[in-house]
Amino acid sequence: MAMETEVIVKAITEQIRQRLNQCNASQDIKAQSGGNNGIFEEVDEAVEAAFVAQKKLLQLGLEKRGKIIEGIRKIGLANVELLARMEVEETGMGRYEHKVQKHHLALEKTPGIEDIQPQVFTGDNGITLVESLPYGVAGCITPSTAPSETVWHNAICLIAAGNSAVISPHPAAKKTTTKVVELINQAITECGGPPNLVVSLREATLQKASEIMKHPKISLLVATGGPGVMKAVLSSGKKAICAGPGNPPVLVDETADIPKAGRDIVNGASFENDINCIGEKEVLVMEEVADQLISEMVKNGAYLLTDKKDIDKLTKLVTTPEGEVNKEFIGKNASVILNAMGINVTDDIKVIIYEVAADHITVMEEFLMPILPIIRIKNIDEGIELAVCIEGGHRHTAIMHSKNVDNMTRFARAISTTIFVKNGPSYSGVGNGGEGYTAMTIAGPTGEGLTSPRTFTRTQRCVLVDGFNLRS
Ligand code: NAD
Repeated sequence: MAMETEVIVKAITEQIRQRLNQCNASQDIKAQSGGNNGIFEEVDEAVEAAFVAQKKLLQLGLEKRGKIIEGIRKIGLANVELLARMEVEETGMGRYEHKVQKHHLALEKTPGIEDIQPQVFTGDNGITLVESLPYGVAGCITPSTAPSETVWHNAICLIAAGNSAVISPHPAAKKTTTKVVELINQAITECGGPPNLVVSLREATLQKASEIMKHPKISLLVATGGPGVMKAVLSSGKKAICAGPGNPPVLVDETADIPKAGRDIVNGASFENDINCIGEKEVLVMEEVADQLISEMVKNGAYLLTDKKDIDKLTKLVTTPEGEVNKEFIGKNASVILNAMGINVTDDIKVIIYEVAADHITVMEEFLMPILPIIRIKNIDEGIELAVCIEGGHRHTAIMHSKNVDNMTRFARAISTTIFVKNGPSYSGVGNGGEGYTAMTIAGPTGEGLTSPRTFTRTQRCVLVDGFNLRS
């Protein structure tokens, strides 16, 4: 009897062992096969695959990492027009030609592995090396306003830093996001890198985004979006890099080059129909140069509403009865908004301008559309005070046109934004016509600023006591 039991137990144990082996093998195959080019149905599968890929990435060394990033940039650049078109068609927001520019920026001016340099201290007590280590698997929540560009930027940064990424696509941009992730996987595998370094979910839901946030194998969250997602990510209990909303004011004083200011403001506020968080969202101008500025803006493609009835009509159109932003007009061309008001214009019109008081809803809230309220100010003190209040503490972006260094310094100190652009369009603050690298994820709420690979690393201090102190 005892003998029989032993045989049965052995047989059952063997069966369990075989099943477990099959199970592990199939998980491994799924994780290695790219789960259909980096696209997964379930959060668990996606995270597991990215977890395996990240471990493999670390075994390949820095040089290979550099090659993978080169491959990613190359495949991205070969698909810019396609992705820009897909993004406009799928989201119904922004402008194709500007999306092309944004893609070039993200692919060419996002830093790579050169951004991660060690720090060394040497002295009588030896040598200390401070190295940058990856977090592991990052969960990335991406916006509808730059779904493709954000994935390219985040993927380059995260991989350069030695991480892998699970993307939570925006529901309004899942086709575009899927295409980008497939291209990234193709580039990685063609360079001999591990599949699934960047993965995404086929279906985009808030439930899935929240599963990603809670997953125990996700050690870093990168959120790019509005106030809702900032709140959710900041209360997740995990390390979070948050790139949130803004409401950038432009301050123009009497010393500014007014023709240039008019042109720059129209170009900045009409770029992508003003869906970018950094775009000029309201203008505060000194009374004595206000008429000249408005006339320069009109010369450069702005449509001026002067009749109060028209301004009220516009306000009603772009807000809901509950006093919120009417999503129907987010990212639409100025002509679409004007045509809906019964004013027929062509697409040459870049932005709608109108004068209002500082407490107007389109001044105080972030409206991601080509409408630009103008407020006259009596002096620079009033301008700075109002601009700080309007920016709303996002500490995102502010712009100033002036030749008075004292005024610029005072405004920069008072508003203390992550980006402060002087005498240029807002987009020069992200390397588009201004110096410096670019970022599609500008982390104001958590303070990292324009993200780059080093943003996505943790530091380790390695100390060798009484050795390699060669100068001593
Ligand atoms: P959104 O907040 O609607 O969506 C962003 C992402 O968050 C989406 O993937 C969405 O599914 C997800 N999300 C939203 N609420 C969530 C929740 N409670 N839990 C989990 N996931 C949630 O943003 P959007 O309209 O696509 O993008 C525009 C906003 O993003 C604007 O406010 C803009 O200023 C901001 N933005 C900021 C930056 C930056 O770098 N700071 C860059 C781009 C966009």
